[in-house]
Amino acid sequence: MSARVEGVEVDTRHWIGGRRVDSADRFESISPIDETPIAALARAGAAEVDQAVTAAGQAFKTWSRTSREERARLLHRIADIVEAKVESLAVVETRDNGSLLRSHRRGVMPRVAMNFRFFADWLLQLDHADFEVRHHRNHVSWDPSGVAAIITPWNAPLMLGTWRIAPALAAGCTVVYKPPEWAPLTASLLADITAEAGLPEGVFNVVQGIGREAGAALARHPKIRRLSFTGSVATAKQIATSAAENLVPLSFELGGKSPYLVFADADLDLAVNTAVGQYDNAGQVCLAGTRILVEESIRARFLEAFMAKARAIRQGDPRDETTDIGPQISRPHFERVDGYVRRAIASGLKPALGGGPNKDLGGLYYRPTLFVDPPAGSEILREEVFGPVLCLQSFRDEPEGIAMANDTEYGLAAIVMTGDEKRAERVTSQVSAGLVWNNCFFVRDLRQAFGGNGKSGIGREGGTWSFDFYCDVKNSVYAP
Ligand code: NAD
Repeated sequence: MSARVEGVEVDTRHWIGGRRVDSADRFESISPIDETPIAALARAGAAEVDQAVTAAGQAFKTWSRTSREERARLLHRIADIVEAKVESLAVVETRDNGSLLRSHRRGVMPRVAMNFRFFADWLLQLDHADFEVRHHRNHVSWDPSGVAAIITPWNAPLMLGTWRIAPALAAGCTVVYKPPEWAPLTASLLADITAEAGLPEGVFNVVQGIGREAGAALARHPKIRRLSFTGSVATAKQIATSAAENLVPLSFELGGKSPYLVFADADLDLAVNTAVGQYDNAGQVCLAGTRILVEESIRARFLEAFMAKARAIRQGDPRDETTDIGPQISRPHFERVDGYVRRAIASGLKPALGGGPNKDLGGLYYRPTLFVDPPAGSEILREEVFGPVLCLQSFRDEPEGIAMANDTEYGLAAIVMTGDEKRAERVTSQVSAGLVWNNCFFVRDLRQAFGGNGKSGIGREGGTWSFDFYCDVKNSVYAP
């Protein structure tokens, strides 16, 4: 069973134990570009999930003992093939999730290859530390833990998936991956790529399906040894309950409501351009600085420049090179975003920009929206909308700006715009967030720790943190 998407053949069955497996049930992938169904996929239940975990458990016996050099070689081979297939991966991903084709081509798919290369190389230079305690030699090693379950969302499907899959495989774990049902197709292309690279059967498995069915069955499976989840807080709470049953270590990368602080001494052009960039991917970015906080003395100038830039955003078909932002992922998500905006308007707020669907384009296109001065504690300021909706408020001085930045249950990222280096360090040290960007945004190095505080997650991944998570870290002591 397969579908032809933008000229690319995509197998729509699961990938279990090195072969394609079907299910009796189906679900459809609907393209956000024009709301047409583009593929019918196998819909897993508990039986297929069990089959995948069993295959992964079997493969773990040899993969966990495969040399680091061989594991690294295979991951580099996967990266080579991803690089050779950037174009087909990019066109399928854009059709499936509605993100910009040009960013898939130039940024996202090369980063997918980088995920594999980076963790292959990091594995080879992981420090197996030795130290002496009263003449006894102590040795620390990172031992593979077992089958890793990986569940990720649709806003950057292949990038987010491989950011977990690559370190898990490098660490010597075998993987069962449950891709997002709203953008499931590139996961299937990745399965083909791992086969072409020569990854032994059962080391990487894909079960397609719905979150509350296949996802829930995977999260509660007693034979998984790690659970890495990226998604919403509501789902994380359900998954945490299952993981608690089996005492499975988990890594959670969840939502955000990040502050974007602009001080009067900031480079105004940079601050405005970067702020407008928070609408990228039609606002479907967990890290986005959705609460813009501007120092009062420059508020009028900032707002005027922001509105001019934001009005110039070109919304349209994400396959068009000149488009800046595309559609929302799905009809239910579109309605959810619109619900937040409508409730904000009903509460008396007037949008300074946008405030509803893009009627010229129709479908799932939602206008970039800005609310100015929502009251403290209001829903639109508190909750993650995950659409093109920003709020703007102002602060009198640095302590008030920091207090407003920290007035959230989330803590994923923060952006600080200032021309004063000392202030940048001072504010950074007081803001509660896993990632703070000063005078920049989205600059990522895979050696860095990545994760959030509060409701934004549990744990960190990236560099050695990823190996700490996917491995059972062992200390051995040798007598003299
Ligand atoms: P979601 O929680 O609904 O779905 C995410 C994944 O979980 C999907 O694969 C889905 O099938 C699966 N799932 C759903 N219910 C499940 C269940 N009961 N048991 C097991 N699996 C289940 O999230 P979403 O709305 O699709 O994604 C958007 C959210 O993801 C936002 O909150 C966003 O901020 C967050 N996100 C976080 C990061 C990060 O790195 N921190 C990155 C991207 C997105």
